[in-house]
This record gives sequence, structure tokens and C-alpha cells, in this order.
Amino acid sequence: MKIVLATHNVDKRIEIIKGFSPFDVEILSLNDFPEIGEIVEDGLTLKENALIKANKVHSITGLPTIADDTGLEVDFLNGAPGVYSARFAGEDCSYADNVNKMINDLNGVPINQRGAVFKTSMVFIDKNMELSTEGVVEGYIVEEPKGIGGFGYDPLFYVKSIGKTFAEMSIKEKNRISHRGKAIKNLSNLLKSNINLKLKEEDA
Ligand code: IMP
Repeated sequence: MKIVLATHNVDKRIEIIKGFSPFDVEILSLNDFPEIGEIVEDGLTLKENALIKANKVHSITGLPTIADDTGLEVDFLNGAPGVYSARFAGEDCSYADNVNKMINDLNGVPINQRGAVFKTSMVFIDKNMELSTEGVVEGYIVEEPKGIGGFGYDPLFYVKSIGKTFAEMSIKEKNRISHRGKAIKNLSNLLKSNINLKLKEEDA
């Protein structure tokens, strides 16, 4: 079975491919479809954005498609940047710009107001159905970046139960507890019952 992953983000792609690696499915990337350019994500919610990406890619490729949209909601910022996490520091900003803005915006804020959640909305679309799910993880925003792994806000997002930021975890460790890892698990359960997704060993 082939599923197209509707993202140009290489970092997300690595995590999603790893998350689906136990399953008997080939995840194609948008590199396989160079005719698909940038997709404008102008939805007002994570789910709307995930559906925009999945619908566009499915309509062009005709193949089953998965898309994810993710936001970081910070208590002190009243839930911002949320759906605007990619553009927190402005249009065309880098991961580092966003991290620096977050550090500055939370400068001097006490630990009890630095709580945050990462949320991922993940959808699957094929010609017969639309499935959607989400994954959420709680943590808090540290004062200084820690760790060299991961991407985006990972060096700032500390998970208390693990005692590390996401950037201090391996991809496997992050996927086990992260917003995206949980969304992958939820979606794979839906796919098992809806399109007979199987573990690789089940076919051996
Ligand atoms: P997107 O709109 O889903 O592509 O993601 C919004 C932004 O959130 C990205 O540009 C990243 O900066 C950030 N982001 C998404 N997922 C993660 C993650 O797993 N860790 C850290 N940052 C992330």
C-alpha cells in the first residue's frame, strides 16, 4: 500500500516515516510529486490546515494521503502561537527566529506560567473516506535552548516525565510520547480497522 505524505517539511517527514515504519505501507513524499508546489495553509484551525494539505495532494495524486498540522500553545501567551506557530516571528522566519522570539517573550516569566502543549492534527484522505485524529503532549518552555536534536521549538519544549527537552531525545524516544507520535498511533489504529493496515510481521 502506498500513502503520500502531504508535507514539504523534511523534519516532520522523518518522524512520520519512522512512526509508520512497523507497518506494511510505503510512505511517498512530495519529492515524488515535484508538480505540487507550496500549499497555502490559511485555515483557522490545525484540522482545517491538515485538511487543506491532504485534500490538495489527494486531488492531484489520486492516492491515499496523510497530512499533519501542528501548533504550540503557551499558557503565558494565552495559547499563542497555536495555528500560527510556523510564522510566530513573522513571514519566512526560521526555526531559530521562532525560538529566539519565544525566549524573549517569556523572559522573566516564572515557571508556573511557562506551561505549554504541543498539538498535532493528523488526517487521512482517500477516495472513500476521511479520517482525522490528534495527539497532545504537555510540557513547559525552558529559558534557554537545550539539546541539538529535533527541529522547530524542540530545544525549548521540556517534558517533565522524561526530564528532557524534545531536542535531547532520539526520534524514537520523541515519537513515543510526542503530539505527533500520539497522532500517528491514533491514526494507525484507525487505518488498521478502516483500510486493513497491517504490521510488516503480519505478512511474513
Ligand atoms: P506546521 O504548520 O504543522 O508545519 O508546523 C508549525 C511549526 O511548528 C513548524 O514550523 C515548527 O516550527 C513547529 N513544529 C511543528 N512540529 C514541531 C515539533 O514536533 N517540534 C517542534 N516544533 C514543531
